[in-house]
Amino acid sequence: VVLHATVLPTLEKTTRRFLDPESRVSAHYTIGKDGSIVQCVSPLNRAWHAGESLDSEGRTHVNDFSIGIELVNLNDGIDPYPVAQIDVLTNMLIGFRAMGFSLRYIASHEAVAMPRGRKSDPKGFPWEALENLGMALIR
Ligand SMILES: [Zn+2]
Repeated sequence: VVLHATVLPTLEKTTRRFLDPESRVSAHYTIGKDGSIVQCVSPLNRAWHAGESLDSEGRTHVNDFSIGIELVNLNDGIDPYPVAQIDVLTNMLIGFRAMGFSLRYIASHEAVAMPRGRKSDPKGFPWEALENLGMALIR
């Protein structure tokens, strides 16, 4: 799983962008600040969220094998990730495992984006909220 921040301020604006083929970006899921979820791509299909990328296991083309989850957030390091949003994310991750997806890790987009420094999201994300899931966290 790769976590992102939308930079766009609302779930609606983000969804509209992902539904526009000309934007050439998409994520499997976007979670709004109130915990609302919009799914644009099946987790069984490839979404275009990570771009040029390399993971901690040395694999490139992270889009080919990852689920991209966008969190509505300005990515300025100040805009908060509300409890409702984090709770939905946590439940979603637990649900993926329950459905049989083998989640090797939860990575930030920043950690997989190439070249290094190309992306900074999700900036200010409270990683400690995911520490009890027993999944590797790659910030
Ligand atoms: Zn991103």
